Amino acid sequence: TSHVLPLHRIIMLGGEGVGKSALTLQFMYNEYNDEYEPTKADIYRKTLQLDGEQVQIDILDTAGQKVNVVIRDSYYRRADGFLCVFSIADEGSFQAIQAARDLVLQLRKDESVPFLLVGNKSDLQEERQVPLGECQARARKWGVSYVETSAKLHQNVHLVFYDLMRQISSRKASE
Ligand code: GDP
Ligand code: MG
Repeated sequence: TSHVLPLHRIIMLGGEGVGKSALTLQFMYNEYNDEYEPTKADIYRKTLQLDGEQVQIDILDTAGQKVNVVIRDSYYRRADGFLCVFSIADEGSFQAIQAARDLVLQLRKDESVPFLLVGNKSDLQEERQVPLGECQARARKWGVSYVETSAKLHQNVHLVFYDLMRQISSRKASE
């Protein structure tokens, strides 16, 4: 077909073990397992309906191993939006998100680049290390939305991807 669909490129940001891959796999295939493959990075593509329009989405699921910064920076520059993930049960992962946000702003020089802050593992309330108020305050400071998800229980997983895609398409429509 000669019909070219709009392509939205999304990058999963965040520390190791926070659930970037679990969220991606839950969104892509509605599947979840407890396996952890810390170095697995991949690009996933899906065609879907977004508010009556057919779009393609590319998800770059990053991993913690050493990356070529030139390649990384070129991906960040080409991306349309970012899902920035930490675990509500891991204070260190909350500390780590600031560096991710700083890198995006450094490369994009655009405070309103489509971006969503995601507190994953909301099923682990008993092990919670980051108070909800702190999460919301950080999002407010950055001027972005904050959503808590559980890849494990499939809570708010589609919501965060669709929210980001809507930010991206309204952004593109206004350009
Ligand atoms: P990544 O390094 O950010 O890609 O993290 P993974 O997606 O590989 O997840 C790391 C570990 O956390 C795995 O054992 C997952 O099964 C687990 N995990 C991911 N999401 C959740 C969640 O929402 N709740 C709970 N309890 N565990 C999760
Ligand atoms: Mg991963």
